[in-house]
Amino acid sequence: MPSEAAENVQDFEEQWARIRNRLRAELGDAAYRSWLKPLIFRGVKDDTAMIGAPTRFLRDWVISRYAERIRELWAGENSRVASVDFEVHSIGAPERATPSKTTGAERKEAPSGHQLTLRALEDVDAELCSPLNTRFTFANFVVGKPNEFAYAAARRVAEVDKAPFNPLYLYGGVGLGKTHLMHAMAWHIRSRDPGRRVLYLSAERFMYHFVRAVRYNDTMTFKEQFRSADMLLIDDVQFICGKDSTQEEFFHTFNALVDHNRQVVISGDRSPSDLDEMEERLRSRLGWGLVADIHATTYELRLGILQAKSEQMGMPHMPRDVLEFLAHKITSNVRELEMALNRVAAHATLMGRSITLEVTQEVLRDLLRSNDRRVTIEEIQRRVAEHYNIKLAEMSSERRARAVARPRQVAMFLSKQLTARSLPEIGRKFGGRDHTTVMHAVRKIEQLRQSDAAIAEDVELLRRMLES
Ligand code: ADP
Ligand code: MG
Repeated sequence: MPSEAAENVQDFEEQWARIRNRLRAELGDAAYRSWLKPLIFRGVKDDTAMIGAPTRFLRDWVISRYAERIRELWAGENSRVASVDFEVHSIGAPERATPSKTTGAERKEAPSGHQLTLRALEDVDAELCSPLNTRFTFANFVVGKPNEFAYAAARRVAEVDKAPFNPLYLYGGVGLGKTHLMHAMAWHIRSRDPGRRVLYLSAERFMYHFVRAVRYNDTMTFKEQFRSADMLLIDDVQFICGKDSTQEEFFHTFNALVDHNRQVVISGDRSPSDLDEMEERLRSRLGWGLVADIHATTYELRLGILQAKSEQMGMPHMPRDVLEFLAHKITSNVRELEMALNRVAAHATLMGRSITLEVTQEVLRDLLRSNDRRVTIEEIQRRVAEHYNIKLAEMSSERRARAVARPRQVAMFLSKQLTARSLPEIGRKFGGRDHTTVMHAVRKIEQLRQSDAAIAEDVELLRRMLES
């Protein structure tokens, strides 16, 4: 027969469970999950019920909003309870029961309140955050010249407790490993120090929460949720460019965290100064810490990544010539490289064929064609004419007015850069001009790109569009 004390505890547990159900009905599911589910009953001291909260933030929040209601409900359940006290019990390792040799009977017991709490808090954050990809770890990240600086910065941020540079701003083109590095930081900290609250989310998800908070008139919760983070990682910040109120809120969140020495990590597809439509003060603030860019891949890095990936996929014996072929041909980004490798592997497995260069070329024909895409002079002329709003015929005309001569020179320059045509060949396509005219045009634009930002931008824009 259970002792009186034990029975008492059970009574209190049951009362607490009923109180929680009441609160759930009163407050709704979302608030319940965020604030009350993580609480656990810790015991009774004299006439005071003790409730544990996993973080100071959560405790303070609950005290300020729900303590009085909880006390009332408890007094209604049990007249002996006069007050309710809230305490923080850390969710770090020390409190966790050491997993000694357990008997079968013990193992059947419900998880400890402690574990339940940890899980409840994880639920809250899981709703807030974007999911982390289990493959995106430091161990799976292949380091080479183009990304070694960004990698070193990410590691440093993940390994030290105090923010070494704030913020860390990572940028680079699509598929070069920004998200991978951010997930790796989050994983690393979560495994090393589970008590630290690390929030990773895309800028779009941040915006989504913010817009919802505004709609439901609950920006307080929104603010508190983010400002209590130990580390905040926001991916693809370019998505909030031009979204003024989100930007504004992001700016405040950002400042609040940095002012409290909490680490902030941001990624974007361009450098802070190139984030047009981003408010100036935010743009400059993003560049205050450490800015690390990830450059386009090199052949060596691509080969290294292919080797690592084929080992991870359980195919350590991919023929060398196949890997070299892929590293040579698929230069766009790492994502495409992975796709290609996966496709070849899947095909070989399904068809029971061994992987050879011929098989690879056959399977990837369409992918290779798009990577191989050759730009033609005609296409360049068309795009450039469009861009400057002049007639296509002006590309071959005799007119020398600046308004048409300059675009024509840009088109010649791009033809030299993006095609394998010789100068005389290019000249012929531009109304039968002499090769020295083309050479002059190429030099002129090269020069102007240094001195004239507008020209530099035009050329870059056109080049990217033509290559995409
Ligand atoms: P981004 O966020 O910059 O667009 P991702 O981080 O999503 O790019 O990377 C695209 C894919 O390429 C992912 O599957 C990622 O694991 C892989 N990847 C990128 N860089 C590397 C690297 N250095 N080593 C291993 N995998 C990489
Ligand atoms: Mg990404």
